[in-house]
Amino acid sequence: MAIRKIRISTDEVLRKKSKEVKEINDSIIELLEDMADTMYDANGVGLAAPQVGVLRRVVTIDIGEGLIELINPEIIETDGEQCGEEGCLSVPGKVADVKRPLYCKVKALDRDGNEIIVEGKNLMARALCHEIDHLEGILYIDKTEGELEDC
Ligand code: ZN
Repeated sequence: MAIRKIRISTDEVLRKKSKEVKEINDSIIELLEDMADTMYDANGVGLAAPQVGVLRRVVTIDIGEGLIELINPEIIETDGEQCGEEGCLSVPGKVADVKRPLYCKVKALDRDGNEIIVEGKNLMARALCHEIDHLEGILYIDKTEGELEDC
């Protein structure tokens, strides 16, 4: 378990597409654990592997309801719309309004390789969409409704 360095928005790695995890081996488990440590240390609600410089489809989320680990997450359903303030550990000190689905349902693998379904509304839907965007090299600052503001 270790805290890894969080890459900031000018880092090219954040703009690359992450690769599917083919085998959940020790290095993927270590990555999941380090990502959780790094996310909690930075008081974040979510972290995607490219944010620690690893181009693998791995995400951790905790919106205050417990840790969720997602391997190869895929959005399978969305509904509605919400517009609200969003930030990112890779864009420190800034927030902006972003339009997201109100509801989001995701299919993924857990660390044991079992298929899991994670769904949620409001902040959970926002976090799922935000983190899965990271796996495509997309940052929320690409999608803002207004200007970035200091926070
Ligand atoms: Zn982010």
